[in-house]
Amino acid sequence: MTIHRRDYYEVLGVERDADAAVIKKAYRKKALEFHPDRNPDDPEAEERFKEASEAYQVLSDPQKRAVYDRYGHEGLAGRGYRGFDDVGDIFDIFGDLFGSFFGGGVRRGAGRAHRGDDLRAEVVLTYSEALEGVTKQIRIERVELCSRCRGTGAEPGRPPVTCPTCGGRGRVIHQTGFMRLETTCSTCRGAGKIIEEPCGVCEGSGYNRVKPRLEVEIPAGIDDGQRIRLSGEGDDGSRPGYRGDLYVVVYLEPHPIFRRDGRNLLLDLELTYPQLVLGARIEVPTLEEPVSLDIGAGTQPGAVFKVRKAGFPHVGRSRRGDLLVTVGVGVPRKLTPEQKRLLRDFGDTLDKD
Ligand SMILES: [Zn+2]
Ligand SMILES: [Zn+2]
Repeated sequence: MTIHRRDYYEVLGVERDADAAVIKKAYRKKALEFHPDRNPDDPEAEERFKEASEAYQVLSDPQKRAVYDRYGHEGLAGRGYRGFDDVGDIFDIFGDLFGSFFGGGVRRGAGRAHRGDDLRAEVVLTYSEALEGVTKQIRIERVELCSRCRGTGAEPGRPPVTCPTCGGRGRVIHQTGFMRLETTCSTCRGAGKIIEEPCGVCEGSGYNRVKPRLEVEIPAGIDDGQRIRLSGEGDDGSRPGYRGDLYVVVYLEPHPIFRRDGRNLLLDLELTYPQLVLGARIEVPTLEEPVSLDIGAGTQPGAVFKVRKAGFPHVGRSRRGDLLVTVGVGVPRKLTPEQKRLLRDFGDTLDKD
């Protein structure tokens, strides 16, 4: 609750002598503007929504309005009026009003809105895709509010009716002697409404399992195990706009010759003994075009050569890491007699040194 309260007329932007119709219209406008469905994860909008709802609750009620006009906020507080702590309470009280301008789907009296579950999906990328970024199509399975009944669970044209047991309160009072016990109505399970004819698509649950295809934009530089959050692509919650999120976890397919270490790309390259001894200009593969690399004479096995900017960028940055080429010496398993002779002669010269 806000400590400093604004004047209710000011909140709704109406004159002090505004009539009920004007107040209702003003509130609808504010409620539409700051509705949580339109402003997900926006605490300021939620505060505004609560404030407008509070103002409307007071000004639309002649008694509360009279108290407010004479005694202000303190007067209402002194009579036990308190505002809204939870947006869910607002839906419970003004559900009808929202239902009519958000196209229904609001579960009245069914308690607070709850958010749908977060979901997880996986994509596997090649090194090249991770280097350049890619848009991937994925197919997920999620729970969505039924589009036929808009989540009410009732067959269209046969809206839920007020629960006959509790008269729509959702709670029943048992009076035994001095004891007064209030419990949740068992007929409607607290919803205050019951469905006479269940929706033919969702069979009354209000939800369906669907398998939508989604496009996931994967940024350049993404690494194995990193995840992308797709806000509002998870399961539907109890009302429209209360979807969970989808987390897409990225895996890199192992590359036949490269490995990755953060921004750097690693490559082990076998050269021949003569190449190391005499030096050579060699072609080195990268994830893009091959590059040529000068190996100096007398290079030792294990030496590391750097090809600048042939590695990965970090996500959201343009500066790229390097390709680090570690050279080794390849020992041939088979030689021709001629090669053996040459090598032996060469070996003899080394022995003399
Ligand atoms: Zn349905
Ligand atoms: Zn009931």
